[in-house]
Amino acid sequence: MIIVMKTGAPESQIREVIQRVEALGYQAHVIQGTQRTVIGAIGDERSKDRLQSLELMAGVETVLPILQPFKLASREVKGGKSVVKVGDLEIGGQAVVVMAGPCSVESEAQMLQTAQAVKAAGAKVLRGGAFKPRTSPYAFQGMAEEGLKLLDVARSATGLKIVTEVVNPADAELVAEYADILQIGARNVQNFALLKRVGEVGKPVLLKRGIATTIKEYLMAAEYILAEGNYNVILCERGIRTFETSTRFTLDLNAIPVLSKLTHLPVFVDPSHGTGHWEYVSPMAKAAIACGADGLIIEVHPNPEEAQSDGLQSLKLEKFQQLMDELRPVAEAVGRRL
Ligand code: PEP
Ligand code: MN
Repeated sequence: MIIVMKTGAPESQIREVIQRVEALGYQAHVIQGTQRTVIGAIGDERSKDRLQSLELMAGVETVLPILQPFKLASREVKGGKSVVKVGDLEIGGQAVVVMAGPCSVESEAQMLQTAQAVKAAGAKVLRGGAFKPRTSPYAFQGMAEEGLKLLDVARSATGLKIVTEVVNPADAELVAEYADILQIGARNVQNFALLKRVGEVGKPVLLKRGIATTIKEYLMAAEYILAEGNYNVILCERGIRTFETSTRFTLDLNAIPVLSKLTHLPVFVDPSHGTGHWEYVSPMAKAAIACGADGLIIEVHPNPEEAQSDGLQSLKLEKFQQLMDELRPVAEAVGRRL
């Protein structure tokens, strides 16, 4: 249920409602809208009728059911879009935000060269995996904490924010010491222990869609993080598995308008994993911005042929610069900027 407060309801009335919600055995989530405050009462649906009586409390406008199974992620709870703040960087606002960097962190020289180039091209966040979820146990698994330290070096040198993946709940705290945004990969979209853990840690989370996850299941995964009180979740469509084999995955751009209708959370697109081939990255990146994505995450490598992972889908530095130049007019055409 949601308890909609009257416009201008004072803090004291909001506090009393929260206390009552908690006394009835529900979690209270306060969602600040532009006009008014809404309190989400999340818990056992069977006794929700008892919440209806909150309509009698001072400052309460109305009490409404949330019809979608994903409660805190839904537009029912928050009509306007959420902006996730990463320090001074706003994600989900008018500006389209681009995250770029290699699939895996490999060396200091690789990270510094990439960070400087993507920053010069206009990226705001540096990506790079230190813990890699690989299909084969014999493939490169990432540099672990050593890799996190190299991300930190690149951040100090450029001022870029850092996004990097956490694959194991036990490492969430360690990764959060270094990362500005924690990435949850496609393979872990329904790793509920990991979702709860990053919810508790509280840093912004980039949650990738799974390769066989419906949009409803995906939003329920986001709900796990929100339910822990971490509202800084960025969604990311990265391709789903279909019968098609010409591309690594099928980038489901339908998901962008669908998600934008169902949720207030920012929505990103990853055209690198979504296609699996560098030549297709640029056209699909433009298409993503044209259909309303709030940003992109793109794999970039100084020498893709020598990459430890995902070289085939990585853009060279100059190709990334060219893409950024070509994206600007696309963003402007849809009322955004880069
Ligand atoms: C990655 O970003 O390198 C990655 C492994 O992504 P995904 O989880 O989408 O496959
Ligand atoms: Mn990758």
